[in-house]
Amino acid sequence: MRIKVLGCSGAEYPGSNSPAFLLDGEILFDAGTITSVLREKQQMRIRKIFVTHAHHDHIRGIPSLADNFVMARERRCVTVFSIPSVVGTIRKNLFNGAVWPDFTVIPHPDDAILRLVKVREGRPVRNGKYTVTPYRVKHAVPSVGFLVEDGKGRRFYYTGDTGPTPDTWEKIGKRKIHCLIIDVSFPDAFEELAIRTGHLTPRLLRVELSKMALPPARVFVTHTKPRYRKTIEREIRKIKINGMRLLRDGETIRV
Ligand SMILES: [Zn+2]
Ligand SMILES: [Zn+2]
Repeated sequence: MRIKVLGCSGAEYPGSNSPAFLLDGEILFDAGTITSVLREKQQMRIRKIFVTHAHHDHIRGIPSLADNFVMARERRCVTVFSIPSVVGTIRKNLFNGAVWPDFTVIPHPDDAILRLVKVREGRPVRNGKYTVTPYRVKHAVPSVGFLVEDGKGRRFYYTGDTGPTPDTWEKIGKRKIHCLIIDVSFPDAFEELAIRTGHLTPRLLRVELSKMALPPARVFVTHTKPRYRKTIEREIRKIKINGMRLLRDGETIRV
């Protein structure tokens, strides 16, 4: 599996984009950044978007993508998957005909650009050779991370935004995770703020990893606040966990 990091930042500045991870050019995990970094041809290949939660920095790319699909030469549509409360929030607050056109009925209600599909926690969704399973994480709003497995048994788990989470690690940590992409937004000095807002610090990350029966082969840190990137990087190095590092916008990782 090839994952292109369209964005992995916890705040937006030039060169620091909101979270979005493109799997093998077709399936997107979170949609903070799409049309500002992908060429038209690459945008048109996206068929599915799995959204961890409805915060603006994780969904903000979808309206522009839907808009570009309207203008595409060939007929295009994209399906957005998430848990029911997230789908409800997106429908009510984003594609509501006020903030943005309702692309779930454009150009026709039975042949629309955008489909919103509800998935259930712990229930796998099959997508060709991939199986995607949502698992609840603890954040300021209802949120899930996605465990993704390909036909060869390679697995990665993307947390989206998460604070300390009690049960999920026990559930997914029993089988080998080849790659973990996990939120570390703040340095250790901001632990109280991190817990209050549902994010992790390097110290909290170490506690979370200790809840997994099998340690993941590689750990990639996402959603860092650009202002504190250097501090977080230093604190991550101190934890001394093999195969762990901060992600960069635009890089590609292989699972
Ligand atoms: Zn969030
Ligand atoms: Zn976020």
